[in-house]
Amino acid sequence: MDHSKQEEDYGYHLFPTRNKDKHTKNSLSESLFTFNRKCQVMLKFAMETSPYAKLLLSAMKSSGCNVLNDRHFTCEDCDGTVSGGFDAASSQIVLCQNNIHQQSHMNRVVTHELIHAFDHCRAHVDWFNNYRHLACSEIRAANLSGDCTFSNEVARFNFGLKQHHQACVRGRALRSILAVRNISREEAEKIVDEVFDTCFNDHAPFGRIPHSKRDAQFAHREYENRNRYYANL
Ligand SMILES: [Zn+2]
Repeated sequence: MDHSKQEEDYGYHLFPTRNKDKHTKNSLSESLFTFNRKCQVMLKFAMETSPYAKLLLSAMKSSGCNVLNDRHFTCEDCDGTVSGGFDAASSQIVLCQNNIHQQSHMNRVVTHELIHAFDHCRAHVDWFNNYRHLACSEIRAANLSGDCTFSNEVARFNFGLKQHHQACVRGRALRSILAVRNISREEAEKIVDEVFDTCFNDHAPFGRIPHSKRDAQFAHREYENRNRYYANL
């Protein structure tokens, strides 16, 4: 082994941008750095422009839960096809930088996880022992985040049935529960069905099911104006 060459490379892999020689650049750490950077930029954009995210953030703020980009979000590599998660123990939202490549996908994941964070903030959710609590929040997240909106469903070739939105919400809630808890499909179905109507009809803080960005914009405006009448007295 060429000793001088080995010394030259020493440590450079930690700082890929400092290495000016293209041939010895460590492409793995460079691409991880790029993924992380891209994830942060898309997160910032979602927080500033998505009416879904903006409504959830102001609703949480008025409930005393202030969400901070740096403290409450983390971009990480995840296993399989997982897009994100909410870690109740640390109140942190994990965004899977290796699986989120488009802004529209980022917006949906941020919204979905913020709905869990909103539920965590407003209620004493027992995520680990009470499967009904978990099921309820998964139903709400699938129903209100746009996971089951028309265009997403068309993209998945599931379009057709009139009751499809409900079926989609039920299916996604089931999948989410089975991904994080070691219970049988039958058991999960039973729990989801028990709480479905109550949780499907709980639209807080949107006041309606936001089927489109436009719906979410209306909901956000209504939310911002909710105290206006009283404030003018
Ligand atoms: Zn979820």
